[in-house]
Amino acid sequence: MRGAILYGPRDVRFEERDAPTIIKSTDAVIRISATCVCGSDLWPYRGISPVAQPTPMGHEYCGIVEEVGSAVTSIKPGQFVIGSFFASDNTCPHCQAGYQTSCQHKEFISTAQASRLRVPFADGTLVATPDVPSDDLIPSLLAVSDVMGTGWFAADAANVKPGMTVAVVGDGAVGLLGVLSAKQMGAERIIAMSRHESRQKLAREFGATDIVTERGDEGVARIKELTNGIGADAVLECVGTQESMMQAISSTRPGGSVGYVGVPHGVELDGEGLFFTHVHLHGGPAPVRRFLPDLIDLVWNEKINPGKVFDLTLPLDQVAEGYRAMDERRAIKTLLRP
Ligand SMILES: [Zn+2]
Repeated sequence: MRGAILYGPRDVRFEERDAPTIIKSTDAVIRISATCVCGSDLWPYRGISPVAQPTPMGHEYCGIVEEVGSAVTSIKPGQFVIGSFFASDNTCPHCQAGYQTSCQHKEFISTAQASRLRVPFADGTLVATPDVPSDDLIPSLLAVSDVMGTGWFAADAANVKPGMTVAVVGDGAVGLLGVLSAKQMGAERIIAMSRHESRQKLAREFGATDIVTERGDEGVARIKELTNGIGADAVLECVGTQESMMQAISSTRPGGSVGYVGVPHGVELDGEGLFFTHVHLHGGPAPVRRFLPDLIDLVWNEKINPGKVFDLTLPLDQVAEGYRAMDERRAIKTLLRP
């Protein structure tokens, strides 16, 4: 079997690897129908997160179950399934509370840019679709595996409710799907912060009512201007830098909430400054598993089309070009077909 391996900064290769097999009785092995490159894959790709040794890549996936271990009961060979980037038992106290990415037995899925994948805790991790989907549904079902679920968690963590004014910091795939999520949750006004015309267009398609091109303090001032000096009720932080985090907190009204899902890189918050903002902060690795059944349902019934964030589709063996296109911001998100 061949899959993507990151050797160092901007060096992704498509190489022969061992095919996955059932190791534990709770495992499944799936044949990947589609996988993709994540914005978070760009941190090691750019050398910002160091890579110590050649590392298999990929944590977004959907596909057909080929084999299950002897203890797997609900997932069966032949089913089309979607899982999140953390395998979870879905039974421990944290899973029961809806925080499957903090599962007491969580295992990170990190080898999905390949033709086959081993998934631990198959019964807890995977959700099957009602039937094998038609080809045109696959991009949106794949999106549910991470970006859509993460955008949804950003909106959920920011307590988006009908009628609210929502601001979204970040115009990557997660930010754009945060816009879509806020729209689904009934937000009345959605302010997308973006400087890129193609991304602004998609943001509007997903439900953005206003676009703010300014960043940092100027971006905050613009949000205040658009909200009569009050600030947004809910802000979705979908980047993970110091600037984006401060922009999100400062754009939120007292009593409002920030949902932050950008993986923080060098973010430091000042306790005293935070104290006087009166802002709720909630975020972390999105517990996508909590949202999978509902999001699959929305896609299956064609209520949402999150697959639109994939503006480049390549055969999996061209994975290196997929990374390059996203690194150079020629593509929002690359879908890969084995
Ligand atoms: Zn658990």
